[in-house]
Amino acid sequence: MEKQKIYELLTKELKTAKVMIDEPMNKHTNFKIGGPADFYVVAKQLEDVKATMQFAKENEILLTILGNGSNVLVGDKGIRGIVLKIAIEELTIQKEQEYAKITVGSGVLLGKLAQILLKKEISGFEFAAGIPGTLGGAVYMNAGAYGNEMKDMIKEVTYLDENQNLVTIPKEQCDFSYRHSIFSTKPWTIIQAILQLPNGKKEQIKAKMDEYAKSRQEKQPLKYPSAGSTFKRGTDFITAKLIDSCNLKGYRVGDAQVSELHAGFIINLGKATAKEVLQVIEHVKQEVATQTGKNIELEIKLLGEF
Ligand SMILES: Cc1cc2nc3c(=O)[nH]c(=O)nc-3n(C[C@H](O)[C@H](O)[C@H](O)COP(=O)(O)OP(=O)(O)OC[C@H]3O[C@@H](n4cnc5c(N)ncnc54)[C@H](O)[C@@H]3O)c2cc1C
Repeated sequence: MEKQKIYELLTKELKTAKVMIDEPMNKHTNFKIGGPADFYVVAKQLEDVKATMQFAKENEILLTILGNGSNVLVGDKGIRGIVLKIAIEELTIQKEQEYAKITVGSGVLLGKLAQILLKKEISGFEFAAGIPGTLGGAVYMNAGAYGNEMKDMIKEVTYLDENQNLVTIPKEQCDFSYRHSIFSTKPWTIIQAILQLPNGKKEQIKAKMDEYAKSRQEKQPLKYPSAGSTFKRGTDFITAKLIDSCNLKGYRVGDAQVSELHAGFIINLGKATAKEVLQVIEHVKQEVATQTGKNIELEIKLLGEF
């Protein structure tokens, strides 16, 4: 089917979401890298997510789900088919005596949620304030920092399965482990989650958030576009330290560079391409394997054509 025809048919199916053709993905990724998506849909409503998934399935069009694009490297040739950005931002908070129940849409940004929880004096989410992703991306990745992970507070997750059925599962069925969840292995779209967090004191919550923000400012190259830690932590080693010990800080191909500040980050110095980032990744992997005998594994997700 022609692009224009797909555009017209898909647009008809959607309530409020807009469809963009040949949308440059460098506008939608934290790395500021990536060629065009054939179709880019931003869905704020469940109905539009469902309709897009159904349309892609019926017409055998590739579908890629995107949150805030903070843990992905998109190829220079872009993404074939539809990129569906999840922007469902519903949020309800029920405060009980000790705990709060938070029902949160998968498009809500973690930083925004952390600020709301601070105002409501709900603690335990401070670790996520500086993670630049959505709730959906954080559930998918089981994002974590400073000794906490999403799995610590999740009660249940609601998603659309491959047949667009809305399903809710308890945390126990989410198969959470380090930077992994059942959602990383299935063609499902996370719609919302229920979190349970204890009530706290504003000053203490704020103090923790400030401490973590300061630590990030000092240790992470936040001035440059990146996708955070490029590699996963090892079972018996800290990957950034290992990379540093191999003298790879500052290693550069074009505008892609192993950060001088934090060896775990690959940064975009300006006009880096996905190909350059991949070349840096390959070099780092090979050097670490040769010099230390350890294999390091990617944390970031590669999307599209390279
Ligand atoms: C400066 C910086 C600091 C970071 N610090 C941390 C940190 O401390 N800890 C940490 O864990 N991570 C960190 N990250 C990585 C990243 O922010 C997290 O992994 C985040 O949870 C990704 O969320 P996202 O919405 O951006 O997901 P995206 O990058 O958009 O997507 C990531 C994956 O999730 C899938 N996905 C996204 N939303 C959905 C959904 N609704 N349904 C199904 N699948 C979905 C995508 O298909 C993709 O495979 C950092 C990144 C940066 C740039």
